[in-house]
Amino acid sequence: ARQGGRRNSAGIDLSDQAVREPLMARLKALESVHWRAEPTFPGDTPGEIAPITMPHDLSAVVGTRRDATAEEVEAAFARAANIQPGWDALGGEKRALLLEEAADLFEAHTDEFLSLCQREAGKTLLDAVLELREAVDFLRYYAAGAREQFGAPTILPGPTGEENSLSLHGRGVFATISPWNFPLAIFTGMAAAALAAGNSVIAKPAEQTPLIAALAVKLCHEAGIPPEALQLLPGAGQVGQMITAHPKLAGVAFTGSTETAQAINRTLAGRDGPIATLIAETGGQNAMIVDSSALPEQVVRDVLASAFQSAGQRCSALRVLYLQEDIADPMLEMIRGGFEALNIGDPASLATDIGPVIDPDAQARLERHVARCLASDRKVTRLSLPPGVEKGCFVAPTIVEIGSIRDLSREHFGPVLHVARFRASELGQVVEDINESGYGLTLGLHSRIAATRRFVQARARVGNFYVNRNQIGAVVESQPFGGEGMSGTGPKAGGPHYLARFATERVMTIDT
Ligand code: GLU
Repeated sequence: ARQGGRRNSAGIDLSDQAVREPLMARLKALESVHWRAEPTFPGDTPGEIAPITMPHDLSAVVGTRRDATAEEVEAAFARAANIQPGWDALGGEKRALLLEEAADLFEAHTDEFLSLCQREAGKTLLDAVLELREAVDFLRYYAAGAREQFGAPTILPGPTGEENSLSLHGRGVFATISPWNFPLAIFTGMAAAALAAGNSVIAKPAEQTPLIAALAVKLCHEAGIPPEALQLLPGAGQVGQMITAHPKLAGVAFTGSTETAQAINRTLAGRDGPIATLIAETGGQNAMIVDSSALPEQVVRDVLASAFQSAGQRCSALRVLYLQEDIADPMLEMIRGGFEALNIGDPASLATDIGPVIDPDAQARLERHVARCLASDRKVTRLSLPPGVEKGCFVAPTIVEIGSIRDLSREHFGPVLHVARFRASELGQVVEDINESGYGLTLGLHSRIAATRRFVQARARVGNFYVNRNQIGAVVESQPFGGEGMSGTGPKAGGPHYLARFATERVMTIDT
């Protein structure tokens, strides 16, 4: 995708052996590095230290996280509030240059980022490459947005003798609270947007993945972004709670679970100080509808990618597949065939399609759900885990047949696909049931019938509707991403309206 002279990052061609083999050797050499995450300005009394272990081998320590203390949170806000007016006054062009410099540094540190994506977050190499690309794209896209929207004021019409102009400014101190499933891309995207818009940023990465965030912040500082304008505060939930309750906070950009977004919303509502903005991107109960006109091979490929890539740990991932009854049996047989060929295991191996889930809690939650399905009369197909994965948080990919999306009361964030059947005459009801889930993130449709596409599009209340392809991997600028209802507040990440929500508008009127 292009915007003006901007191009999305090219990524790495893993199919080219001359690229792949030296890369694998360099990644191997990085396995001995011990990474650290700590507050950008460490205080005198250090906070708690926690080891960060690999999701696919909990006995291997990747590094350590030093949690921010209450004093460090307080001091970080004072610094952030102090620098923000100057950072805002710098203007969009200068901030853009710094973000672009950061993007170049990210690309120059590809190996370290790929290594951390694999070791700290359990990502396959393909997912790691895609993640770094997205982070770099966010930096450059929001830099372009800073240049366009935060430069010269917009001149507005007015009566003779009056000059009116409108300009966008940072709101103040913005917190970014980011998830472990895109520990680099979403961490970087939210911070870059807040910075581009002229805010100073307090960045709190997920407790499971602070190390990659620490490297990202270090490179942003090397690029010239002042450390007071972008401060890392690692920690668990208590640190997030201290940040969101802080009276100096002007806004929060959050990506994670719907429940946490609701808790943040309550905290923001209950505190003094500025009325804070909340930008939340949360979960989904994402469906794909496949009718009898669909191309079976394409459906198999897109179902498997949508449900199982990244071990199903994307908020966009397919959770409920609706198959038209006439084709359901042969289609399911083909899907099961592809499913059985998936490789589960060590994300460092190129043969791996599905790595671990993030931690033992996630693993236990998913196993409880599958156990309940097995105990019911639902038909369950599970892959068996290969030998040697006992030390990691692996969940065997699972397909469960259900009656409808109404059978599910919550999102199951992992490699579990639910399959339901529908009759052609029930399509309207299917879309209504999907809407009734209360989520509205992604929806897939496989149909060669234009009228069906129009029918579904006119009714579905979702943020991202994908037709005849998979429903994951939204690309910056091409597929601005985000949902509605229980899936988030908007605006869409990687889209043209995102930066404006991080900003406040000021109008000046001069009587000439
Ligand atoms: N943007 C990602 C995608 O399209 C999902 C983001 C998320 O999981 O929060 O797959």
